[in-house]
Parts: sequence; structure tokens; C-alpha cells
Amino acid sequence: MIHNGQERPLIGVLALQGDFEAHLKALSKLGVATRAVKLPEHLTDLDGIIIPGGESTTIGKLMIDYGLDRPLKALIEQGLPVWGTCAGLILLAKKTDNALEGQPLLAVMNITVRRNAFGSQRESFETDLSIPVLGEAPFHAFFIRGPAVSEVGPGVEVLATLDDGTIVAVREGNRLGTAFHPEVSRDPRFHHYFLRLVQSVRK
Ligand code: GLN
Repeated sequence: MIHNGQERPLIGVLALQGDFEAHLKALSKLGVATRAVKLPEHLTDLDGIIIPGGESTTIGKLMIDYGLDRPLKALIEQGLPVWGTCAGLILLAKKTDNALEGQPLLAVMNITVRRNAFGSQRESFETDLSIPVLGEAPFHAFFIRGPAVSEVGPGVEVLATLDDGTIVAVREGNRLGTAFHPEVSRDPRFHHYFLRLVQSVRK
């Protein structure tokens, strides 16, 4: 069982590149303890970890350079709850349709993703999504050169799609992935959803 012995859960945010600050801020507002994860020793005692948006190739390479890739993958495989947003979702995927050859991935979710799925016309946009696990009110989602999930394997639950059916949020047990950026919206429901998942593992 993963439990750091503290009252409040401790959530790490991988802080090698990208918009990790926004996740740290969103989490602090919800009253949890947070930690910017830059080195392997920062993985100790975490109750959950977020992999932020940014540039998935850069984050992947830095994870290897800092010796974080193997211990992080091992912790996720042991059950540490993880949530990847945008580039983070790409890093969780087993496969990408169109990644540059040799792009490092953690490969812990049974999904295939397509990087920069929305093309130059629509590469960044906002839209209201229906996400039933968050309740009835639509979730205002920001897409910033985001990926899409092009294939899901067994055991993967689709949490949200665009109107045309494109899959943009998934869950596989303790692993969550979103193609959009809940950390830049004012709506805390997705962060709450992740924290509920974390709490269910801590019990
Ligand atoms: N396009 C980026 C990538 O492929 C992801 C963009 C983001 O995280 N906002 O890594």
C-alpha cells in the first residue's frame, strides 16, 4: 500500500519541462501537499504524480538524462496513481501513431496516441466537453497542440470524446490521461477526480 504516513496526500508534478507550475498551483488550491519532481529521490513517499503538458520528446529525453524513467515506470506499475495531461498523456501511452522514431515513452497505458492530432487549422482551441464522471455540467477544456487517443486496448475506459468521437480523456485503473489542460482552467473538478483516485488507493 502506498501511504506517506501524513494526513494530507503528497502529489508530485514532474517538473523537467512544460507547464508544471500550473498543476502545482491548481493542487495547492485544493489543500494537498505538492512536490516538484526533478530527481529520482523526489519520487519517495508520493501518493500520486502528474506528468504535465509541454514537449513530450523533451520531457522523455530529460527523464532518461535524470534517471527518472525507470523508477517512475516501476512505481506506476506498482500502483502509484498517475495523470498525464497533453504531452504527459503521450508519455503514458504504449504507442504513438506518428512519433519520431525512438521517442522515449513510459508505455504504461494500453492506448495509442496521435501527436498534434488537430492539425494547423485547429491546433489550439477551447471547447465544452461532457465528462460524465465529473457530473452533468460541461467541462471547459483547453487544447494546446494536443494529441488524440487513436486506439484503446482492453481495460481502458473512455472518459470523454469530442463531438466527432475523437477520444480525449481515458482511464485505466490508477492511470488517467487527458489530451487537454485542466490545470489552465478555473474548474477544479478534474484535479478533484484525480485526488479521489489517490485517496481510494491510500485507504
Ligand atoms: N505537441 C506536444 C507534444 O507532442 C504536446 C503539447 C502540449 O503538451 N501542450 O509533445
